[in-house]
Amino acid sequence: MPYNKHTSRRSHGSSHGDSRGGLHTRHTPQEQSHSAKRTQVVYRSGSAGMTGNYYQQKIRDRQDRNSSSHNSHNRGGGRGGGRRPTKQLNPNLFINRHPAKNETEDYTPKHTFADFEIPTQLLNNIIAKGYRKPSPIQDKAIPVGLAGKDIIGIASTGTGKTAAFLIPLIASLFKDKNKKILIMCPTRELALQVRGEFLALATAMPLYAVGIVGGAPMERQIAALHSPHHAIIGTPGRIKDLMIRRKINISECSAVVLDEADRMLDMGFIADMRFILSKLPKERQGFFFSATFSPEIQKICSEFLNSPTSIEIKTRDTASSVLQDIRNTRNDTERMEQLLELLADTAHPKVLVFREMKHRADRLARELQDKGIKAYALHGDMSNSQRIRAVNALTQGTVQVVVATDVAARGIDIKNIDLVINYDEPGDYDTYVHRIGRTGRGVTLGKAITFVTPRE
Ligand code: AMP
Repeated sequence: MPYNKHTSRRSHGSSHGDSRGGLHTRHTPQEQSHSAKRTQVVYRSGSAGMTGNYYQQKIRDRQDRNSSSHNSHNRGGGRGGGRRPTKQLNPNLFINRHPAKNETEDYTPKHTFADFEIPTQLLNNIIAKGYRKPSPIQDKAIPVGLAGKDIIGIASTGTGKTAAFLIPLIASLFKDKNKKILIMCPTRELALQVRGEFLALATAMPLYAVGIVGGAPMERQIAALHSPHHAIIGTPGRIKDLMIRRKINISECSAVVLDEADRMLDMGFIADMRFILSKLPKERQGFFFSATFSPEIQKICSEFLNSPTSIEIKTRDTASSVLQDIRNTRNDTERMEQLLELLADTAHPKVLVFREMKHRADRLARELQDKGIKAYALHGDMSNSQRIRAVNALTQGTVQVVVATDVAARGIDIKNIDLVINYDEPGDYDTYVHRIGRTGRGVTLGKAITFVTPRE
């Protein structure tokens, strides 16, 4: 079983103080070694009405980090313009000079794609995507999915989980074109990415998917819902909104997918997810995918799945397959110098830089553009089309750099990112692992550099 961050990082305190000062991160000596994976999170007790709920705290943390520039002056600047993290992590956690390749590289699948009972056109589309053999999660999940059974997939992004659920679902939709499926994802980027994969795998098949995500005009989505479609792929908030407005009828959906269920819980979508799941027909197939299997996920699975088959994909955790190092920088000038030096290296044509706040991501992207470096920002204040443009530009190599905030970068799949730079230190280890997980996807080794300001 992969390391379960939710259960092992659970709060030991009953509640916490304010969202900035109340959260402390402690490391045992073992945890402070670079191989350490666990972070003990302890909440201060005291503040009324707070339950110390780990997810609520994480949401507040993220809201804090990603809040708009209007609020930022209240947050304590320091460090030459970079926000001083509310929790300071031991810099040793950002160092791993001996990364190991991902275990999945050596996996020998039991099946070929041609072994699966799927339409020929779907097989052709899989081949056209360049997938030569099923990944471990695909090898195990596709036969179960094709048999119509429910699945709990414990697998993280990068394992090929999207095709693991899409292939059986597309096969089933092709068989009965009156069917409909619903796929819920934590972020708009991931939802649009899953929709892209659906459309690619369903090329030349009369199947269509609508994307129902927040931050995009509702009218267009409503119009798309009026046209024939077989899959609704979106984020829980917007899906629920449109259900309440009676624009989506999910009572006909014969299958439901929760993609990155743990992230949806982290982001506070639990009530929306439950609302949506409760409106689905009782007779349906369910695929719940999650990188971790916390008690909350177990509860959802036991409530909404019917005798599911559990499939767990053991991958070495992200942190061990990424070459990681730190650069000590005393101020903004030094950070910029180090950044320019890294960008000048021809080994780094695709670089993802993380900043803690939207306006800082914007400003850094502008500064790089002024220096003649092709760069875009990626944050939650941008429109969907701007965000897609940034992701596509880095994917296609038309820009070298995307400067992103954490929420905006969650779940995005940009192929072959050569380097992740933490321009601002992450506030917690979980965020750090998520950031560096953007490089070294699949079986390739990645590289991450964290700019660290020496503590006084
Ligand atoms: P996912 O975990 O679904 O986000 O997929 C991660 C990446 O692996 C995506 O870029 C997929 O296009 C790619 N991928 C998925 N399945 C396969 C496969 N069988 N062979 C090679 N690449 C794959």
